[in-house]
Amino acid sequence: MVKDFSANIRGELIHDEPMSKHTSWRVGGPADCYFKPADIRDLATFLATLENDDPIYWVGLGSNLLVRDGGIRGTVIMTNGLLNGLLLMDDDVIRAEAGLACPKVAKFVAKNGFEGAEFFAGIPGTIGGALAMNAGAFGGETWEKVISVETLDRDGNVHERFPSEYEITYRNVSGPENEWFVAAKFKFEKGDGEASLKRMKELLDKRNATQPANQPSCGSVFRNPENDYAARLIEACGLKRYRIGGAEVSEKHANFIINADNATATDIESLIEYVSETVERQKGIQLIREAHIIGDKYDA
Ligand SMILES: Cc1cc2nc3c(=O)[nH]c(=O)nc-3n(C[C@H](O)[C@H](O)[C@H](O)COP(=O)(O)OP(=O)(O)OC[C@H]3O[C@@H](n4cnc5c(N)ncnc54)[C@H](O)[C@@H]3O)c2cc1C
Repeated sequence: MVKDFSANIRGELIHDEPMSKHTSWRVGGPADCYFKPADIRDLATFLATLENDDPIYWVGLGSNLLVRDGGIRGTVIMTNGLLNGLLLMDDDVIRAEAGLACPKVAKFVAKNGFEGAEFFAGIPGTIGGALAMNAGAFGGETWEKVISVETLDRDGNVHERFPSEYEITYRNVSGPENEWFVAAKFKFEKGDGEASLKRMKELLDKRNATQPANQPSCGSVFRNPENDYAARLIEACGLKRYRIGGAEVSEKHANFIINADNATATDIESLIEYVSETVERQKGIQLIREAHIIGDKYDA
C-alpha cells in the first residue's frame, strides 16, 4: 500500500485498473494500484512512498506478459509513453527512456544517420521491456548496443550500471535485485539512415507474411531450443489451430498463441501448458517459456 500519496507526486494513481487494457493478449484482471508517473523523478518519489513489502510490477507495452484473470495484488508501474525522453548526445550516443516504443527509437536512430537499430523496428514493446528481455529480431539484440543503463531501486535511488553488471543471454537478463530500468544509452554505427529505414520496411513486410500480425498475441511463447525452432516442434506435434476456450495455436506461426475469440488468461495459460506437455511427450524436448506470467488465478 502507498504510505503517503502526497501532493509532491505529480503522476496519477488508479485503483482496480483492468490489465486487459495494457497487454497485447488483451486479457488480465485488475491491478489493485496502477501508477502513471509524470517522469523519472516523480517515479522515484512515488517508489519511496511504497511499503517495503508491497509487490511491484513494471509494465511497458505488455507485449510479453500474461496477466492472470484474478489480477494483481500490489502496484503496477506503467512506463509506456510516460518515460519517453529521447536524445542524441554530443558523443553520438543515444539516450532513450524506458517507456519509448522500440520502433520509435529505431526510426530516430536511422533519421540521425546511424545504422544497426533495424531490429528494434520488429519489437512491439518498450525500451524497458527490451532491456528486461534482451529482446532481439532480424539477427540483432538489445544488449549488443547498450553502453550503460539507468535504474531505479525500491527507495527511489538512481543508479548508472554497465553491461558487465548483468548476466545477459538469449531472451534473458539478470542483474541487481529490486532495480528496474528507466533509461539506456546506446551506441550505433554511423551509416546510411535512408537505407536503414528501407531495410526496416523490408524486414517488417517479410515478418507480416509469416506471423499473425493482426491478432492479439505476445509473439513467440517459447524460446527456441538450441539448434531447433519451437514453432517447428509445435507444428510437428500437429498442434496448429489447437484450441482451449478462446485461445488458439496460430495457423500462421505455431509458436504464437492467439486470442482468437474472447479468450481468458486461464484459456491461454492452459494452452501454453498443453503445448509444452505435448512437445515434451512426443519429442522429448522441454520448451522454455519466453512470455512472463504474473497475477492471481481467478477465484470464482
Ligand atoms: C506480435 C509480436 C511480435 C514480437 N516479436 C518479438 C521479436 O521479434 N523479438 C523479441 O525479442 N520479442 C518479440 N515480442 C515480444 C515482446 O515484444 C518483447 O519481449 C518486448 O521486449 C517486451 O516489451 P514490453 O515493453 O511489452 O514488456 P512487457 O511485456 O510490459 O514486460 C515484459 C517483462 O519485462 C519487464 N519490464 C518491463 N519494463 C521494465 C522496466 N522498465 N524495467 C525492468 N523490467 C521491465 C516486465 O516486468 C516483464 O517481466 C513480440 C511480441 C508480439 C506481440
